[in-house]
Amino acid sequence: DSKGRLANFSAGPAMVYEEVLHKCQLDLMNFEGKGLSVMEMSHRGASFTKIIEEAEQDLRTLLRIPETYEVLFMQGGATAQFAAVPYNLGWRHDPSDVAYAPRADFLTTGSWSKKAVAEAKKVGVEANVLATGDNKSIPSDVSAFDYGDAETRAQSAYLHLCANETIQGVEFKGLGSLGSVVGKGGQLQGAPIVADMSSNFCSKPVNVEDYGVIYAGAQKNVGPAGVTIVIVRKDLLGSPKAGTPTMLDWTVMSENKSLYNTPPCFSIYVCGLVFKHLLSLGGLDKVEQINKAKCGLLYDCIKQSQGYYDCPVDPKCRSAMNVPFTIPGHEDLEKVFVQEAEAAGLINLKGHRSVGGMRASIYNAMPMQGVEKLVAFMKDFQAKH
Ligand code: PLP
Repeated sequence: DSKGRLANFSAGPAMVYEEVLHKCQLDLMNFEGKGLSVMEMSHRGASFTKIIEEAEQDLRTLLRIPETYEVLFMQGGATAQFAAVPYNLGWRHDPSDVAYAPRADFLTTGSWSKKAVAEAKKVGVEANVLATGDNKSIPSDVSAFDYGDAETRAQSAYLHLCANETIQGVEFKGLGSLGSVVGKGGQLQGAPIVADMSSNFCSKPVNVEDYGVIYAGAQKNVGPAGVTIVIVRKDLLGSPKAGTPTMLDWTVMSENKSLYNTPPCFSIYVCGLVFKHLLSLGGLDKVEQINKAKCGLLYDCIKQSQGYYDCPVDPKCRSAMNVPFTIPGHEDLEKVFVQEAEAAGLINLKGHRSVGGMRASIYNAMPMQGVEKLVAFMKDFQAKH
């Protein structure tokens, strides 16, 4: 654009709203005329207290988070939460019984949900993989899977899923048929549902009460890297496994209002600005509308290319955030595509190294004009090659 900013399709850290960057610029030099940078303030001072409290309140408004849920600002990325989930939920029957091997259920639909399984096993949780997607689809009827009898179910500490697989571009559109087997408050016949929403957090409204826990790294939709947001139902707190590292302990974080130690102050500040911006846009219903229009444009372009471009994902679960595509039969051209796109100011379109091809990540802050520019480029590229 006129300020020299490129259309950045990075999977994360990703684009941040320009309005937010402007405000950051001012506050980095002199926060609200106080004579110091927002980066230089004590995390226990009045200014930062206001920042973190407003960030929480605005997030609660955006996602309609009920008072029965705690909002935590943590560190270590979503990867740390892969371990925090089993530590906090696996031993609720008796935290001191560290020899006990709890069982948890997993839906694996791509790379990140598989990583969550591996980490849970390290903590000592027996992983029961209920349904495996093929990286291109979501298990079409998860309610039909064998969840076992009530007694077996009672042994399951939680059910974990990844709401949007960033690498494969596979997204749950709500809980679908899983909704019919979940009871009140995100219970799947007794086990709370835990969702990794790192790459579609605040991209659309969700019913928080369908979940026991929602967690998300900020660096895709709501701010810079460094802070991970955890939304946890309060009755799930209070019984972490004995020996749980303090920094992974939701109960400690909750008792200390996310200020047990020095939090990622700057990242929390930026998230707060993003939440205010999302509210000013009209909230998450409006944000979802914009996101649907953006990804619709891209998926339509792929469809209209008559097979020149292909998206390998089942249309029913195509992500609104991460759009993977290939040039089937012409893999040599994919490298050229990425290079020529970059020269045209469309950057970071190379697909993840594990899947190849291209991937356009179009999170909240990617403007419509960025997607329009990409679509025009794709049409030109097809005509030229
Ligand atoms: N889960 C999902 C869906 C992701 O996209 C990512 C990162 O890209 C992660 C987890 C890991 O997040 P972090 O790098 O913040 O640990």
